[in-house]
Amino acid sequence: MVTVIDLIGNTPVVELQRVKPLGGARVFVKLEFFNPTGSHKDRIALYMIRDAIKRHGLRPGDVVVEASSGNTAISVTFIAKRFGLRPLIVVPRGTSRSKIAVLKLLGADVVEGGDNPLAEDYYIKLGERLAKECGGVFLNQYANPANALAHYETTAREIWRALNGDIDAFVMGVGTGGTITGVGRFLKEMKRDVLVVAVTPKGSPLAGGTIGDRIEGLLYTDIPPLLDRSIIDRVVEVSYREAMDMAARLAREEGLLVGISSAANIVAALKIAEELKRGNIVTIAADSILRYIDDVVRYLGME
Ligand code: PMP
Repeated sequence: MVTVIDLIGNTPVVELQRVKPLGGARVFVKLEFFNPTGSHKDRIALYMIRDAIKRHGLRPGDVVVEASSGNTAISVTFIAKRFGLRPLIVVPRGTSRSKIAVLKLLGADVVEGGDNPLAEDYYIKLGERLAKECGGVFLNQYANPANALAHYETTAREIWRALNGDIDAFVMGVGTGGTITGVGRFLKEMKRDVLVVAVTPKGSPLAGGTIGDRIEGLLYTDIPPLLDRSIIDRVVEVSYREAMDMAARLAREEGLLVGISSAANIVAALKIAEELKRGNIVTIAADSILRYIDDVVRYLGME
């Protein structure tokens, strides 16, 4: 009998059929929305929580804290509950009611923090403080090595296996940097000349700007401490509009319901494919467009 935890990972890889680059390169997408809660963050939540249990000797009823408004909050809640732990999630002000509802449905205690990084009540600082106050463990995906390790040990190996090692480039958006760091490191160890391409919102610090377009899941202000910049060969900027338009096109032409950051990855992957003209380019669909459907309705004027 399989458990719901066993459903994490081993996600499928598909090749784009109609949204194709000019030239002869092929683009492959690993569909992480096949994970149980619908994103790649199930992998890191499992790794971070197992690590916290081992390192801090957590027992049922103990508290784990994470500061996140998105996929990580959902995954941490999902995993913590399976281990009998109590998830406390700090979300930034303005997090949608539907997301908070999902967290509560899965069994999280939810606290709202501020959204200004310089303020005392900033949700990440608040998460750290609350963890201390309640004797819980602050997981902190932005600085937790178990995040990158999850992708190094699972996502990367699955990609390698799916393409029999025949990979020329890996393209991934940077949020915490966990995925690109873990996958990029593994692929380069296996094949030195794999091109590792970071995707970032137009105008973000990673692209040399100050503040970028807001594409949920991707960092547009700081460069995360977990990101290993030495494995990045190229940075490609993608605008919110390009990502949204690509998400709509992928739905219509490929039947692929990928999220906005995933569509940004595919915009960048097509750019790289056209430059390389041959070979296999792999990227990731971190989650599904169903999580952003209100934004899509607004953007496409479907109201
Ligand atoms: N896309 C989405 C939708 C995400 O939630 C995240 C994680 N913040 C990313 C991309 C980036 O992944 P990572 O944190 O591993 O860099």
